[in-house]
Amino acid sequence: MKETALTILRDVFGYEHFRPHQKEIIEQVISGRDVLVLMPTGGGKSLCYQIPALVRPGTGLVISPLIALMQDQVQGLRQLGVRTAYLNSTLQPSEAQQVERCLRAGDLDLLYIAPERLLMPRTLELLDHSPLGLFAIDEVHCVSQWGHDFRPEYLQLSVLRERYPAIPRIALTATADQPTREDIVRRLQLEQAQTFMTGFDRPNIRYRIVQKNNARNQLLSFLRSEHWGDSGIVYCMSRKKVDRISAWLNDQGLTALPYHAGLDKLVRQRHQQRFLQEDRVIVVATIAFGMGIDKPDVRFVAHLDLPKSIEAYYQETGRAGRDGLTADAWMTYGLQDVIALRQMLESSEADAAHKRIERHKLEAMLGLCESNTCRRQMLLRHFGENSSTPCGNCDNCLQPPETWEGTEAAQKALSCVYRTGQRFGVNYVIDVLLGKDEPRIRRFGHHRLSTFGIGSELTTSEWRVVFRQLIVRDILTVDMQGYGALRLTANSRPILRGERNLQFRRERKPVRVRPHDSRVSAHANPADQKLWEALRARRRQLAEQQGVPPYIIFHDRTLMKMAEQRPKDLQQFSRISGVGEKKLERYGEIFLQVIREQDTQMEPIIGDRS
Ligand code: ADP
Ligand code: ZN
Repeated sequence: MKETALTILRDVFGYEHFRPHQKEIIEQVISGRDVLVLMPTGGGKSLCYQIPALVRPGTGLVISPLIALMQDQVQGLRQLGVRTAYLNSTLQPSEAQQVERCLRAGDLDLLYIAPERLLMPRTLELLDHSPLGLFAIDEVHCVSQWGHDFRPEYLQLSVLRERYPAIPRIALTATADQPTREDIVRRLQLEQAQTFMTGFDRPNIRYRIVQKNNARNQLLSFLRSEHWGDSGIVYCMSRKKVDRISAWLNDQGLTALPYHAGLDKLVRQRHQQRFLQEDRVIVVATIAFGMGIDKPDVRFVAHLDLPKSIEAYYQETGRAGRDGLTADAWMTYGLQDVIALRQMLESSEADAAHKRIERHKLEAMLGLCESNTCRRQMLLRHFGENSSTPCGNCDNCLQPPETWEGTEAAQKALSCVYRTGQRFGVNYVIDVLLGKDEPRIRRFGHHRLSTFGIGSELTTSEWRVVFRQLIVRDILTVDMQGYGALRLTANSRPILRGERNLQFRRERKPVRVRPHDSRVSAHANPADQKLWEALRARRRQLAEQQGVPPYIIFHDRTLMKMAEQRPKDLQQFSRISGVGEKKLERYGEIFLQVIREQDTQMEPIIGDRS
């Protein structure tokens, strides 16, 4: 036995305590047993195989589909003094040979490898002659067709069990509902594996869904008031919109980079790289962006369009706040989103069964948007977790929405749709309700209808909200063949007859939700803030010199602790969470120097006060 798990946690990683389940998982793997780990993003999965790999003799092999991530992981581990390498298609043949020699000689603690590479006969041959400590199968949901990232190569990973029965396997994922879990166990023959599952909640993410009302301005004021200078992701549905929004954000003085499948591969790589390596970059992207983004300090994820499902929403928003510090998931959503998504769904080539599933997913997503109760409870319930208390960290908890009795408004809306012949879209019907003097309305003779002008108690935008809620609840449908004409449904009749009452959510005026308690970029104490900026600047400099992202040097969390605790010597410095032996040796003096400089600058100010 080289060292115990706890000393490695403290000395190598610089952390004081294990997180829930980490210790048990690590012990199981060290003792040679298979385990399946289901933990949310940022939960601390990596340590669960990294520590056993350091304890067990031989190399720990990490199978990961995310080539973009490997380099990041390897850089990070090397900073800690862990002997790490990767094998994938980005290496030159000579580099690959070098790695292979190290593996064979037992000179590696960890080796990251892509599944297709692992499965090559040549590689298996190499493994046969190398000392192996464990197999970690990351993103293991890729083995299941149920999941959204199915990868056929993953199916063949059952070879590991057959070929190396004595080597323990640890399979890990952050997304696994019941069917996916069952698939994983069956396909990879993990029947003997103990399963560890922690909740999927991401308590540091604050969920907010606001009603769309000039999305650009809303986004800008969200960024201005809460995230100026932070790294974040803005998701849009179309490539065109991505280009437009990122250009516009640049005009506003921010650094925004577009990312979508229509861009040249090199451009995409460069943008991704800048996002990882620089502070303060915003990526504006379609859903093509994200897989393999493990940047820990993404402070916000903003959606300007509605995702297709809760699964997609949760995955995309889950890219925020991996470091555990406060982060925001913010979305604007409006009538047009509902119509566009319904339209996409109905016009798709998919068969009926598939469409039905997609429709259910969309309905669940819309249900989340329209809900009046805790968003987090609803999200977790969707993933089969029941949390009994509202979270206190979503918009509905922070500012409970009001509802209003909307039956009469709904009746007016429905009868106006009916009287105009179910041939017109939302805008037209609203104009009739408001009694507008439009040539088009006159031409159709609709100014003579009994419903003409009966809706003047609401404004156009209030009516749009009413229509949206009617469409979401399937009380009205939008006919895509008929250019977006509104039609009644089977659910309309009970409303028109007054047999069913409707409560609508009242849209709030955009009021500012109070900022998070502990903002990264806004220290309560100005001296701390100043030191924090100085530490960040030093970190950026070191990162640039080494060509690595700043968080590889130290995470924000560690830097914040430095700013708060102001260690005076190496002894004190070593006690900061995230400072292990190697980092203490490499960076201790450098950062202590920054702290000392700040402290001498502060003295006159303190002197003035006394
Ligand atoms: P995951 O792979 O589950 O998304 P990571 O393994 O990347 O999460 O861990 C998320 C963050 O938490 C990392 O910065 C990691 O260093 C940190 N972390 C993990 N375990 C601990 C621990 N026991 N104490 C403090 N920080 C930890
Ligand atoms: Zn809540």
